[in-house]
This record gives sequence, C-alpha cells and structure tokens, in this order.
Amino acid sequence: MTATRVLVLNTGSSSVKYQLLDMTDRSRLAVGLVERIGEESGRIRHTLISGPQGRERIRETTGPVPDHRAALEAVAEELARDGLGLDSPELAAVGHRVVHGGKRFTEPTLIDTTVVNEIERLSPVAPLHNPANLIGIRTAQKLRPDLPHVAVFDTAFHSTIPEAAARYAIDVETADRHRVRRYGFHGTSHSYVSRAAAKLVGKDPAEANVIVLHLGNGASASAVRGGRCVETSMGLTPLEGLVMGTRSGDLDPAVVFHLMRVGGMTADEIDVLLNKRSGLVGLCGDNDMREIRRRVDEGDEAAKLAFDVYVHRLRKYIGAYYAVLGRVDVVAFTAGVGENSAPVRAAALEGLEGLGLAVDEHLNARPADGPRLISPPHLSVAVAVVPTDEELEIAAETYELVTGARRRR
Ligand code: ADP
Repeated sequence: MTATRVLVLNTGSSSVKYQLLDMTDRSRLAVGLVERIGEESGRIRHTLISGPQGRERIRETTGPVPDHRAALEAVAEELARDGLGLDSPELAAVGHRVVHGGKRFTEPTLIDTTVVNEIERLSPVAPLHNPANLIGIRTAQKLRPDLPHVAVFDTAFHSTIPEAAARYAIDVETADRHRVRRYGFHGTSHSYVSRAAAKLVGKDPAEANVIVLHLGNGASASAVRGGRCVETSMGLTPLEGLVMGTRSGDLDPAVVFHLMRVGGMTADEIDVLLNKRSGLVGLCGDNDMREIRRRVDEGDEAAKLAFDVYVHRLRKYIGAYYAVLGRVDVVAFTAGVGENSAPVRAAALEGLEGLGLAVDEHLNARPADGPRLISPPHLSVAVAVVPTDEELEIAAETYELVTGARRRR
C-alpha cells in the first residue's frame, strides 16, 4: 500500500488545528480543532469528511485538555475512532506549520534535531508562535517517530524579497547582531493565492505580477513578481503593516518611547497594547468586520472610524505595491475579510480606475464560492477573490518533499 496521506498540524499557544488530506486527489478526510488547552475546560471539534459530496459528520467534546501532549493525543484518538489513526500505513508524513524560519529556512524542511534547535533559536523573534509550534513537533514526533515530519515556514515564501525591501534603515551591525530585518508572514497563503490568482486570469504564475491582500484577523499584503515575492507588509514580527483585528500595523516607533517615558508603560504592556488591544478592536471595540459593518450601517461613529482607518491603510499599500511592481496583472483578496467583505473590497479600490483598478458592483456583491473575478472586463488590472487554503499548501509541500515529486501546482 502506498502512503498518500498527510496530517497537517498547526499548533498554537492554546490550540491545535489539524487536517488529514489524501494527496492522490488532494481531498480532505478529516479536519479539527482542539481549543482552550491548559484551561479548565477544553473543546475538541472533529469533522469526518466522507461521501461523494464531502458529507460531514461532526463530533464535539468538552473536557480538560491540560497540555499540548494531551491535545495531540486527543487528535490521534479522534482520528483513530474514524479508522484514520496515526498508526495507519497510509500516513506518509506530518506537515507542521512553523511561523518563523528566520533567514535560514527558505524551503519546506525535513525536521531533525538541528532543525528543532534552530527553530528554538528563533523563538525570541516569534515568542508567541515558535515555542508552541515546537511543542507540536516534539509531541507528534513522539507519537510517530518513524514518520517524516516536515516544517513548512510562514516566512519562507518571503525569503526572496530583495535586500532593499528586507532591511530596516538602522545601524547594520546592531540589526545583524539581533537578526532585525523584515521577514514577512502568512507566506503559505501568499504563495498559494498568488499562483491561483495568476491561473485564474489565464497567466503562467512565472510571468504574472500579483498583489495579494490576505485580510484575516491578522492581515498582510504582498507583491509577487513572476512567482517570487518582492515585498510584503509584515516585518520582524507580524505587527508591521496593515491594520488588523487586534494589531496596530505600522506606527511611528517613537510612539513606543513616548508611551514608556510619558505614559509610564513597560515594554510588555506596550507589546500587549499593540498586539492585542489595537487595530480594529482598539479603534471601536470589535474585531469582526461583519459586526463593524453592521454598526456602520446603524450610524456608529467609532465603527466608521475603524473601517475608514482600516481601508485607508489598505489603499496605501495597494498603491505602494503597484509602484513596486510597475505593472500589475491581478489584485487578489483572500482570508476571512478579503473573501467575504464586499464593502472592504469596494472601498479599498474606489476611485482607482485611473490605475486600471475597479470592482464591478454586482460581481463584488456575489457570495464567495471558489476563485472568481470581480473586476469589469475592460480594465487593465484584474481583481480577484481567491479563497486561501494554507493546509492544502502545507500538505502539498510536505508530500512533495517526502516523495521527491516535482512541483506541478
Ligand atoms: P485568521 O487570521 O484567524 O485565520 P480568518 O482568515 O478566518 O482569520 O478571518 C477572520 C475574520 O474574517 C473575522 O475576524 C472577521 O472579521 C472576518 N469575516 C469572516 N466572515 C466574514 C463575513 N462574512 N463578512 C465580513 N467579514 C468576515
């Protein structure tokens, strides 16, 4: 029997997301989420996908999930109950999402002790993510030590950005000593969506120029020239760039000194402020774009301000990346807000016909169902909505690495 299945694990600080895929037809067999690890009551939601229309059977369990080991054991148990256990000979590999790969990891990488140590060494630049990713790797390795485990890095797709875009204009020696440079994140999504958007407009990804706007709770933009990323909005950490659900995005770094000196805040307090209490939540108390739009429609001033700040920043990045690329074939919206919020897409491109950019009102208003164009046909730049699929991308990269298959995506 050939092993064709890949388990994708995305281990966060208090949750584990997982998907089991069969790479013969890239179908999903099971997906799930373990939440509230370490809290009094955890929750496991497991969905078995079967049948011709991908019919779903959902199981939900609550109970304490004391740590990540218990979480991964619960995942293994849920899969086993559906006959998809980790001991199956059909399982070819485990693909792990790893947030920060630094300068070293520019490709999916087979995990050994050296790789684990290096991911650990990068933890100071990704303190919220890499330690959790590592726990996932170590625990899964204990459960199936004989299987190949592959790390797929969020930063990898951005490793091609030129030095002019990667460098902050600060003292080079200080920057290098502390690994301070722009790395970028959400790379798996930018890679997948930029390729899918190029194909949607009938172009070879190797010849297309694409601006990808990944607008989820975290948000980032990228400029992709001929399949290679040349600029992206997140930096040393995911804090830089666009306005996000709870993160500020760009701000004058002197705001930090000001809050320390005048506001009497500590570095940790400012860290929490900028990462958790800023962005849409900081501006209006909500980070869900659906709720914000509902409030805007009711005339709520704070929600309107939040929406306007969000869209203004987005427009600035679209303009900037247009200039970086010189010629743009397609602008692609993706992730929760990008895929679902017609008002954000319309406002972000309003009045840009002069740049060959616009959305067609009717196409834009249609509900999402797969990749689609939303621009009027006569304009020079296509605008697309492309649902992202990071798990499929991680599974595909993992499977390619372990089977030595040639890239044909
Ligand atoms: P994450 O970064 O957590 O992966 P997602 O890509 O799932 O985030 O995006 C989550 C966000 O998408 C929500 O916070 C919400 O603002 C937005 N969103 C989801 N569905 C809709 C919708 N139908 N309309 C507008 N915004 C939506």
